[in-house]
Amino acid sequence: MIINHGVRGSIPNPSKNTIGFGGNTPCVEVKTSKYQLIFDCGSGFSKVDFSNDLQTILFISHFHHDHIQGLAFNSYNSDENKKIILTSAHSNSKDTYNNLTNYFKNPYFPVDFIEIIGKFEFIEFEKVVNDFQDLAINSINLNHPGNCSGYSITSEEKKFCYLLDNEYESNQKKELIEFCNFSETIIWDGMFLDKELPDKKGWGHSSVEQGINLANELEFKNFLISHHSPTREDSEIKQIQNNLSNIKIKFASENEVIDF
Ligand SMILES: [Zn+2]
Ligand SMILES: [Zn+2]
Repeated sequence: MIINHGVRGSIPNPSKNTIGFGGNTPCVEVKTSKYQLIFDCGSGFSKVDFSNDLQTILFISHFHHDHIQGLAFNSYNSDENKKIILTSAHSNSKDTYNNLTNYFKNPYFPVDFIEIIGKFEFIEFEKVVNDFQDLAINSINLNHPGNCSGYSITSEEKKFCYLLDNEYESNQKKELIEFCNFSETIIWDGMFLDKELPDKKGWGHSSVEQGINLANELEFKNFLISHHSPTREDSEIKQIQNNLSNIKIKFASENEVIDF
């Protein structure tokens, strides 16, 4: 099961014109029979229910605020002894710990959150890959200011790919195809439209059209365009979606649940 808890890029925008697709920043939860895997903790992370029965692993793509800002705003309403593995292919565990600790303390935050909550085990990405080989965890370097890591996991022969945030370059095509071909579900950064890209060069995001072009070279079940621009209204997304000829390509919608 895959749950899209947040599909909005850069800043939450819960307005009457965005409520349909959703206003929370990125967080995707993937549940298998043994694991609860969470990709990023934007504001949508507040809705994640922690399961006592499953091993929870939280993967961080990078430390831009829209991908971490929700970490302190979950009720963590689970067994108090439950630990959450927190890892990132983007940086070693010490830097991951330091980045999050600094973000959630004075002068940006009222309390020293990471220390107070005491729930996270910061583990090197390579160790997580090695310790959980039944998940076949893989990562890819994405083109983003300060870099960003995309992820794939393959569980019980089903593959899931998470590819936010990435400014698509044609020289990525071969590697991206190899990385995400034959997936059940691929999450793609479609923050912009082609017509908006010239003004947003270097901002680190791709277009909806670039996603559709790549999807046309891939085998998959669902290709979900996500990280919607904060100003992209429901009516515009619906209009673009209605013109898509491939029904397997869709715009990610908050709270939707997808088979996995
Ligand atoms: Zn982002
Ligand atoms: Zn970013």
